[in-house]
Amino acid sequence: MQHECGVIGLYNIPEPAVKAFYGLFALQHRGQESCGIYTSNQKEIRGFKNFGMVRNVFDDERLRKLEENKPRHAVGQVRYASKSMNSAANLQPMFFSHLRADFVLASNGLLTNHRELSIQLQKKGAIFQSDSNCEILAHLLVQHPSTFLPALKDALPQMQGSFCYLAMRRSKMFAARDPLGIMPLSLGKLGDGWVISSETCAFELLGAEYIRDVEPGEIIEIREEGLFSHRFAEKRPGAICLMEYIYFARPDSQINGVNVHLARYRAGEELARESAVRSDLVIGVPESSLSAARGYAAASGIPADQGLIKNKYSGRSFIESTQERRDLAVYLKLAPIRTMIEGKSITLIDDSIVRGTTSKQLVQMMRRCGAKEVHMRIASPKMIAPCFYGVDTSDYRELIGSRHSVEEICASIQADSLAFLSNEGLRRAIGLDEVCDACFTEQYPTPLFEYQNIIDRERRERARGQQQ
Ligand code: AMP
Ligand code: SF4
Repeated sequence: MQHECGVIGLYNIPEPAVKAFYGLFALQHRGQESCGIYTSNQKEIRGFKNFGMVRNVFDDERLRKLEENKPRHAVGQVRYASKSMNSAANLQPMFFSHLRADFVLASNGLLTNHRELSIQLQKKGAIFQSDSNCEILAHLLVQHPSTFLPALKDALPQMQGSFCYLAMRRSKMFAARDPLGIMPLSLGKLGDGWVISSETCAFELLGAEYIRDVEPGEIIEIREEGLFSHRFAEKRPGAICLMEYIYFARPDSQINGVNVHLARYRAGEELARESAVRSDLVIGVPESSLSAARGYAAASGIPADQGLIKNKYSGRSFIESTQERRDLAVYLKLAPIRTMIEGKSITLIDDSIVRGTTSKQLVQMMRRCGAKEVHMRIASPKMIAPCFYGVDTSDYRELIGSRHSVEEICASIQADSLAFLSNEGLRRAIGLDEVCDACFTEQYPTPLFEYQNIIDRERRERARGQQQ
């Protein structure tokens, strides 16, 4: 298993550990639990990884040690982990040493057939230390009779779900994206070398030029002779994760040709067209909803201003593991500007409602500051189903939208009114046909294996509930 993460690869670049550090810094929003960087100087592979944010794990001394043997290549990863995966064995990148090859793997995504593959491999003698995707791929690679690239071409089609892999050997690098391209992965050029990153925002910081996205079902191989493209799966309609545009990615990133800020801005415009409500002020919940709030304000003609301040040092509330801590974390994360709110009718714009904790606390906060009315507008559809591709949007029981109507959610968060963006509105805002919207439609683009039981059970319980 693996959750939403960020990966960066640098090939033939001076001081690649320092550059990987910068790249990971730009990708920090994709995971704050742990991070790591491995380097190669064509002869030796070195690395370091630990729990913590990038700037805490890597200080000057640590980077100097990694640069000591003059490496040319590096692979880095930032990781978001759910509680069950929070062990040192799961830290990435992972280094594997085998008679036939030494290599490093870093990944992003979640394999829906992880358990099946793990059992199959264990029957052939594999031993696992972690529940990481990387170990699954490593065993498939070393059990294969041929060399690295053909082994990779045979291993990747056996995997179902979402995945992006970076593989580094002493003098080569490989990047692969699942056949539907559920998670983003982009290719850039930096001087005489190459950069591969989960998001293009890392290219800006490194001064790299964005070349293109890694295609779904593609393996990019980079070696001294240049860059080569191989396919491990046929071209077919893709399914990029819509939550990347709604919440996860940084607004300055470009995913599958669409800028994330613009997508959010247009989602705000669509939301206003569908369900604008009369009010004095539009307030976006920082940071991920500010673009949508601007779009909403422009399309509704209601002024938008800052009514909430984000404490930059608080991290993301979602990441807290208990409800009590999550409740508190919203207050640690966001503070109201009372003067902007008092005596006004407020429309609050947030990007999504998962458990409903944030919205409820925010409505309360607005009322405490003397808001006359609080209307909640959400720049994405009602989330009705869990994600099995790595975005940690909990299970059915924790998703308020899976069992409750819009009216019930509105009552639960104690807002004066509540509206979500429609699925069509979101599609128009993003402008792509080939997307994954399973958490809003329950239509999953891949087989789900063990996770199918969760859906079947939920459907049975819903049917039973309707009968009663
Ligand atoms: P909740 O408080 O559980 O309703 O979560 C909604 C809040 O979490 C929103 O303000 C979102 O910005 C944020 N959010 C949505 N999806 C995710 C996610 N996958 N990981 C972390 N935060 C999220
Ligand atoms: Fe993204 Fe939702 Fe699909 Fe998961 S189910 S990949 S969060 S769109």
